[in-house]
Amino acid sequence: MTTPPSVVRDRALSLAGGELPAYLYDLSALSTHAAAVRETLPPQVELYYAAKANPEPEILAALSPYVDGYEVSSGGELAHVAKAVAGRPLAFGGPGKTPDEIAAALDLGVRRFHVESAYELRMLAALAARVAPETRVDVLLRFNLPLDAEALAGSSLAMGGRPTPFGLDPAEADDAVAAFASGDLECLELVGVHAHLASGLDAPQQLAVAASVVAWSQALARRHGIRLTEVNVGGGMGVDYADPEARFDWARYGQGLAELCAAHPELTLRIEPGRALTAYCGWYATEVLDVKRSHGEEFAVVRGGTHHLRTPAAKGHDQPCAVLPTRAPWPHPWPRSEARQDRVTFAGQLCTPKDVLARRVAAPGLRAGDRVVFGLAGAYAWNISHHDFLMHPRPGFHFL
Ligand SMILES: *Cc1c(COP(=O)(O)O)cnc(C)c1O
Repeated sequence: MTTPPSVVRDRALSLAGGELPAYLYDLSALSTHAAAVRETLPPQVELYYAAKANPEPEILAALSPYVDGYEVSSGGELAHVAKAVAGRPLAFGGPGKTPDEIAAALDLGVRRFHVESAYELRMLAALAARVAPETRVDVLLRFNLPLDAEALAGSSLAMGGRPTPFGLDPAEADDAVAAFASGDLECLELVGVHAHLASGLDAPQQLAVAASVVAWSQALARRHGIRLTEVNVGGGMGVDYADPEARFDWARYGQGLAELCAAHPELTLRIEPGRALTAYCGWYATEVLDVKRSHGEEFAVVRGGTHHLRTPAAKGHDQPCAVLPTRAPWPHPWPRSEARQDRVTFAGQLCTPKDVLARRVAAPGLRAGDRVVFGLAGAYAWNISHHDFLMHPRPGFHFL
């Protein structure tokens, strides 16, 4: 269960059934949260927003005063973010960048790349020499660094320290750095190291990762007698879907990063969270279409489903929600279907048993026509969903 703020609650109750489902974004809550996050970070830490978590233009714009830039991971995100928040710094990351995407990024003035492989490094060097020969292009080499398994117990999506398609293998680090010294990579400047190794981490785990990435990058620099002035330690700050009121401990994280910065005064540290910035501001509001029994359990079928809010299916959890009973007179000649048990499973309109938003939620007296608002729907929700499956209408979008 969760408690929506009154702006969200009022909107969910005032929209007509036909205007639901709808994504309701509480932009003032987003601003307050982002400002508080920024406040905890020392000045040496730059905050980039990973646009893939939620690239709605209104969200990108609301974050703008509090972030130093945006991380984009495709040509599509690049074009979209460059338009939505024109003039803000962008870093181009992500695996499998095509030559066209890299050229487009250079054309748009992007001068910071997170390079994923030795092949991509050569490609970027050749394209930079052609498209932007007069300017310096900053490179952070992304590495798939080993993770301290103990420090990371419980992280949900580890993408480092085991075989993955992300970043360079640490065994290739010396050759990649040597390539810069050889003069083959004119136009490119190796400024540092990038590592996004896991998601769902708490603050002590994130600090352990940050310290180990910084130590690794400084050792690399020492071996080659060079300076590496930037370290990007990625995103992955945890969001607890089982406890929607919980928050990543930004104060503790900021304090730990300040200590790390104090030990490395020449370093710019960068973080690029997505989920932990925008998850809390988004709500998926819908209407109960039917309440029914099946083999001893009760189900409520709501308008919409996991084709709009794939998060619970993708992560295998129950999306936190709140039931808002509607007391307006029932406008139909047929009776409302209603729950007889205390617990109801919320399913969507898709013809698949996977279309479940939340299981066995306490909802005594739930009736057709009641509203349900799902929280933590501001990140990896609408934009990771398979919208066209079954051809139901798209939700509304409201920026409150
Ligand atoms: C997805 C991603 C992020 C953001 O991760 P969150 O878990 O949303 O914080 C940051 N950096 C890279 C490279 C990513 O792929």
